[in-house]
Amino acid sequence: MKLIRTPDEMQEMSAQWRKKGDSIGFVPTMGALHEGHRSLIQRARRENRKVVVSIFVNPLQFGPAEDFTRYPRPFYQDRRMCDASFVDALYRPDPERVYPDGFATTVEVGGLSSLLDGEFRPGHFKGVATVVLKLFQQVRPDRAYFGEKDFQQLTIIRRMTRDLDLGIDVVPCPTVRERDGLALSSRNVYLSPQERSAAPKFHQGLDAGAAEAKKSRAKPKDVLAAARKVVARIPGVSIDYLRLVDADSLADAERLRGRLRLLGAIRLGRTRLIDNIPVICKD
Ligand code: AMP
Repeated sequence: MKLIRTPDEMQEMSAQWRKKGDSIGFVPTMGALHEGHRSLIQRARRENRKVVVSIFVNPLQFGPAEDFTRYPRPFYQDRRMCDASFVDALYRPDPERVYPDGFATTVEVGGLSSLLDGEFRPGHFKGVATVVLKLFQQVRPDRAYFGEKDFQQLTIIRRMTRDLDLGIDVVPCPTVRERDGLALSSRNVYLSPQERSAAPKFHQGLDAGAAEAKKSRAKPKDVLAAARKVVARIPGVSIDYLRLVDADSLADAERLRGRLRLLGAIRLGRTRLIDNIPVICKD
């Protein structure tokens, strides 16, 4: 596995592969890799001749009071996982190379970026879209793999890719969970033992909402009430939001019809968790 540290080197490597006709699959991450990331890498491995994983804790997507400095960075462990998963190149650029002095251009996906998590993390999705577009330009992949765990992020990247004619196939990958239902996240390490044991109730609440949607005459507000009832019982929880939305526009669902998604964000102590599930309606 090749370790790449600069955008120039990455572009050169990618150009060589493309010249030979090799397809490139790309998995962008912030590191602290777990089985969720591994599932994306394995899918990329199956579908492409070359696989690139990036590890970049992107300063642009963290707010001033967020966890940028304490975000876990277990690089040697991550490198081992990539090696064992037959990754061709691990791309780990320095922030100064990604954002050199004078850097001034950002990308904003209108509308979608200000909803849901965007209301609680102003500027977050601008940071995400900007870094993903830059990484796409550096890696020039045929396919890029994103987890449904970050459903709003996936939706925004898909829209950006379409709006800017990037010609990259954005591949959504299902959320990998612990046996008790908690979605795997690099941030789960922040949870105290008590918080960790209560955390699966978040997913149980979403499940309760989805179950409600299958009942005849159920309305969106019943789905949300059923989810909230379970999630609100988590000791010490603070709910940022629980919303039932259209899976494409992310607009609040007015009826139980079409492709819907139940999404939420909660705080447990100092840790913020997000999760979401599809909602299948009765008709
Ligand atoms: P991150 O390192 O948190 O930025 O995540 C990198 C990629 O892994 C994103 O596309 C995430 O959606 C995806 N990912 C994170 N957690 C999971 C999970 N539990 N299951 C599937 N994909 C995930």
